[in-house]
Amino acid sequence: MSTTPTSAAGLAATADAPPTSPSRHQVVVIGSGFGGLFGTKALRRSDVDVTMVAKTTHHLFQPLLYQVATGILSEGEIAPPTREVLARQKNARVLLGSVTDIDLDARTVTSHVLGRTTTSHYDSLIVAAGAGQSYFGNDHFSEFAPGMKTVDDALELRGRIFGAFEMAELGAARGDNVDHFLTFVVVGAGPTGVEMAGQIAELAQRTLKRDFDAINTRKARVVLVDAAPQVLPPFGRKLGLWTKARLEKLGVEVMLGAMVTDVDERGLVVKYKNDSTERIEAVTKVWAAGVQASSLTKTLSEQTGAPLDRAGRIGVNPDLTLPGHPEVFVVGDMIALDNLPGVAQVAIQGAKYAAKEIDGRLKDKPAQKPFKYFDKGSMATISRFNAVATIGKIRLSGFIAWLMWLAVHLVYITGFKNRVTAVLHWFVSFLGRGRSERTATEQQIFGRVALSKLRRGATDLVSEPGTHPLDGDEEDHSTRRRAELEDQAAEEVRLTDESRRGVKVPAGKV
Ligand SMILES: Cc1cc2nc3c(=O)[nH]c(=O)nc-3n(C[C@H](O)[C@H](O)[C@H](O)COP(=O)(O)OP(=O)(O)OC[C@H]3O[C@@H](n4cnc5c(N)ncnc54)[C@H](O)[C@@H]3O)c2cc1C
Repeated sequence: MSTTPTSAAGLAATADAPPTSPSRHQVVVIGSGFGGLFGTKALRRSDVDVTMVAKTTHHLFQPLLYQVATGILSEGEIAPPTREVLARQKNARVLLGSVTDIDLDARTVTSHVLGRTTTSHYDSLIVAAGAGQSYFGNDHFSEFAPGMKTVDDALELRGRIFGAFEMAELGAARGDNVDHFLTFVVVGAGPTGVEMAGQIAELAQRTLKRDFDAINTRKARVVLVDAAPQVLPPFGRKLGLWTKARLEKLGVEVMLGAMVTDVDERGLVVKYKNDSTERIEAVTKVWAAGVQASSLTKTLSEQTGAPLDRAGRIGVNPDLTLPGHPEVFVVGDMIALDNLPGVAQVAIQGAKYAAKEIDGRLKDKPAQKPFKYFDKGSMATISRFNAVATIGKIRLSGFIAWLMWLAVHLVYITGFKNRVTAVLHWFVSFLGRGRSERTATEQQIFGRVALSKLRRGATDLVSEPGTHPLDGDEEDHSTRRRAELEDQAAEEVRLTDESRRGVKVPAGKV
């Protein structure tokens, strides 16, 4: 795997990503999730150069995010560095950057990171930028009810969940009412919502029950809210009812037919079918309802006229190409095709299909048949030893489904080391009652909100490439401090270069 320089000194503000070998077919892959990673890997034996451009440096196994949020797994176990995963793939390189533009005529992809812009040329393009959380037009809810899409989300939620018990302890010791700290609301009764609600209930009932003095964690209230009339709608009515009963046995209150209409720091408001409303006082809210495809679909739609659905997914041809652009494939959560679900296997199979087509074209092979998704089944855990699964017409629930869930997730976790440590953590949490990953920092709890308040996010915290911080207009405290640190670093280098470290300098000579 070759890499491009990433230090500030090594990158110009705007740079063209040079092809590894200019004569070779250049494939650009956007995203390092399931579609991006499996598409890149599927091209490992092809006569192409692959450039993967992604806005994170890791490949994220989203299905286990809830275990990071609830202290079972560490983030590294579900998010290995993409560079390491692809290190042996000689024809692949990885570029960090958030793609902001795709020019279909010029065949270029433009990406940005911290004020640096890179343009990558492609002959073939695989777009696998996935989907984000949807707040159904109420984006301001996100400040108080983080979603569950990224490592940042999971770590923030971990901090908020464990932090709420700490705040309750402090308040209770003073004799305050702490019900709002001990109430946890999960919005969305799909697999993620069910898993989160189940895990928070297990935390309160098992893991934390002996850790506090002033509060009884077993009295914590966990509420699962959804506007739909059943939990886990894609799993069918019978498994939905079974799951609801299991959750209730764990102590989770399941509120169905209840739509969230407002969210603030202290709680949220739900509206029932009969138009009555109820306010729930809860400091910790988790948003697990609704997805919105990456905004790159808008860029692609504007240039091709391809339709977008309500979730922003783009209509593609049956071979996953963009209308009028056979060199561009779109896969995974971004596409609207034959009602395909937003699941990992759709992204993996779509990306492999696209890679095979690119390889076949270079070898003058006839085009493949239209993409056909092979449904390997779905599963969701409710608590330790309890899960539901559907495989074709088979419906399973309970311990057997949980064992299947365990096996499938182990197979798909990337990397041997991660599999071993995940199994150890599962032993600790499922057989014992411990959770070894409870650490959370202040930055993790408030960092996302703080960054969102900056005009250009993290870019506002660093100087533009090539400019000395004190030359610009933004001579505020942070840039002055940065200049001081840079000067200190330069002085350290000078002392080292002149072998003056450890030499006693007489007073007055410095
Ligand atoms: C909490 C949770 C639990 C889930 N559980 C399951 C499950 O149990 N089973 C299942 O099958 N599916 C599950 N899913 C769904 C599954 O994870 C997705 O369907 C799958 O990840 C889609 O793959 P993708 O490649 O389309 O997108 P993703 O895997 O989301 O990858 C998108 C990639 O694109 C990058 N990216 C986004 N925008 C840009 C940009 N502008 N520039 C550069 N890079 C960009 C992202 O950083 C990421 O690397 C779950 C999802 C979530 C969030």
